[in-house]
Amino acid sequence: MYNTIAMSDLSTPLSQVLRTTKKHLERMEFLGLKTVRDFLTHFPRTYEDRSTFTPITQAKINEKQTFRGHLSSINHRKTRNGRLLISALLTDKNGSLEINWFNRPYLLQVLKPDMDIIVSGKIQVRNGRLTLANPDFELVKEEQLHTARIIPIYHETEGITSKWIREKMQLLWHFTENLTEHLPESVLREEKLMGYREAMREVHFPTDFSRLALARHRLAFDELFEIQLRVFERKRQWTSGFGQFEKQIHADPTELKKLASHITFAFTNAQKRALKEILMDLKRDCPMLRLLQGDVGSGKTIVAAVAAFCAIRSGFQSIFMAPTEVLARQHYKDLSNLFEPLGIKTALLIGSLKTSEKNDIKKRLANGELDLTIGTHALISEGIFFKNLGFAVIDEQHRFGVAQREDLQKHGFPHLLNMSATPIPRTLAMTIYGDQDLSIIDEMPPGRQKIVTRVVPEEKRPDVYRWIAKKVEEGRQVFVICPLIDESDALEIKSAVKEYEYLSTEIFPNLRLGLLHGRLSGNKKTQIMSKFSTGKLNILVSTSVVEVGVNVPNATIMVIEGAERFGLAQLHQFRGRVGRGEQKSYCFIFEGKASEKNAMNVFFPPTRDKIRERLSALERHHDGFKLAEIDMEIRGPGEIYGVRQSGIPDLKMASLTDRELLLRARAQAEKNFAYFFEKQAVQDVLKRKSQ
Ligand code: ADP
Ligand code: MG
Repeated sequence: MYNTIAMSDLSTPLSQVLRTTKKHLERMEFLGLKTVRDFLTHFPRTYEDRSTFTPITQAKINEKQTFRGHLSSINHRKTRNGRLLISALLTDKNGSLEINWFNRPYLLQVLKPDMDIIVSGKIQVRNGRLTLANPDFELVKEEQLHTARIIPIYHETEGITSKWIREKMQLLWHFTENLTEHLPESVLREEKLMGYREAMREVHFPTDFSRLALARHRLAFDELFEIQLRVFERKRQWTSGFGQFEKQIHADPTELKKLASHITFAFTNAQKRALKEILMDLKRDCPMLRLLQGDVGSGKTIVAAVAAFCAIRSGFQSIFMAPTEVLARQHYKDLSNLFEPLGIKTALLIGSLKTSEKNDIKKRLANGELDLTIGTHALISEGIFFKNLGFAVIDEQHRFGVAQREDLQKHGFPHLLNMSATPIPRTLAMTIYGDQDLSIIDEMPPGRQKIVTRVVPEEKRPDVYRWIAKKVEEGRQVFVICPLIDESDALEIKSAVKEYEYLSTEIFPNLRLGLLHGRLSGNKKTQIMSKFSTGKLNILVSTSVVEVGVNVPNATIMVIEGAERFGLAQLHQFRGRVGRGEQKSYCFIFEGKASEKNAMNVFFPPTRDKIRERLSALERHHDGFKLAEIDMEIRGPGEIYGVRQSGIPDLKMASLTDRELLLRARAQAEKNFAYFFEKQAVQDVLKRKSQ
């Protein structure tokens, strides 16, 4: 009965084994299906239980059910809008219902009176009769493929229906004989996992729900296991990819005392703990790879600064990289103030410097004169050489790609401290940042106030504007963040420009407003930021570029427009721009304006209640990690900021939130890494997926 093609290779192109049209092949390619392996690993999206028949007399309205009966009264006609309607009566022992098929002319050849068929679909009441519209159906025969069993439902595209996929799956089924078990026997035994081939069979042709669950569990394990192997491979590349490592950094207590006398506050316990963890790493004979995570304002910078200080006192150069020039300048200001009095040579290197200035810094980096250099990516770009780089900090590391790390490796594997204020749930951290050691600052410096947060209904907007006018009169400053529009930079800028013009002409004609967005030149950006931070502007209208690190203590009001476009964790970061001084601070959150709503909802049509519910979490919670957890629950891990950028493949079976399975997979990947590594199998396993 099978197509007996001798070819057994799973990488055989589908075009060689399926007799189908070019169009179908193209559409499958659109689904990412090119080879037999792709096809076999095209897992069902969900299942329908059609293994039992419902007597028609017990049919439930609006529920999917499967019926078995025989056909009579087959009729057809054109509907008012020109569609072909075939109707028939299905009768079982005690009842009957009407079936309607629209625009299926071929059924006229297939359907015969008195035929026994099985149909699956949702029952509705039409004209007072039980009716099934466009149900799936099969003739009653020995082995049912589309009905009378647990039916897999696949991701479909035009012309590629689940039914079509099920048929082709059966046709290509003999290829599963070539699937080999890739997990070691010990892992199968310890985790009590179903064999690979068997699991593959069960997901496509389930025998019952409990075996199906075991099969899905097995395949979910595989996905997480592979991600974790990749994580450990990345870790190995960093921690053992160098020659002789001679960059041990020590903390000299006398020197640290000198530094401490220049710091005006006492460290929080969380800061002390993080610093201790970092200093432990720096002493080792392999480069550190650590992520310092801490909410906005938790004081990561000073922790990194102390580590840099130790590196410098141990005779190494340090660098401090920020994702934007605005932020780099701010760090430069703070760090040079702290370090220059201690005789440490600092400099700022950013793209918008004059060539002569850049060349001067390059020279001083190469001859070792500069101890601490702060900058953007320009710091490790082409043509920069260090005399002896020992310690690197990457602030807001999720903003940089992984490529940054490779660029750093070229500069001789310094100890690397990544920092991120984007709180992500711990399970996700193990996956996205799983190759790094993790330090968390989970405590705020004392005296910080909660920022009063309100989700404001549109009709209360004038009140907010009045409040702003009043606060500005008292000398306060205001941020207005404009919505992120479908990842499109251009549109986002347009909306910011529009908002800026609207506010400056219609609402606050007497105030001084500034506009900040990503397309402005570096100089222009700096100019506007410094105007704002020195109080020459009352209101700063900005795109999301202002999100990171900006510190203006006198700004006490944050307005966020189109807030439904952002994740909670990100909104929380915007909010963190205010509440940095003594004054009580406020955050006002608006959903997209009515006029813009339609345009936005084309891309993103969540229900109003859901949006309101999600945003209101910001009123109640002031802990970024908590907000990230809520975000993950409501929107799923894919929407968490940083997950997309991390290059984690879309998971078919596993969920990144399945903490227990993730921990098991991670433990097994760690335990078996050497085995896979020696067998060269890590690469094989990893390649297998991307073929
Ligand atoms: P982030 O973690 O968001 O980068 P920063 O390092 O910019 O936070 O710190 C925010 C502010 O808090 C800075 O002005 C910093 O000087 C101050 N700060 C840091 N640690 C403490 C502390 N332990 N006590 C008081 N203020 C602190
Ligand atoms: Mg910071």
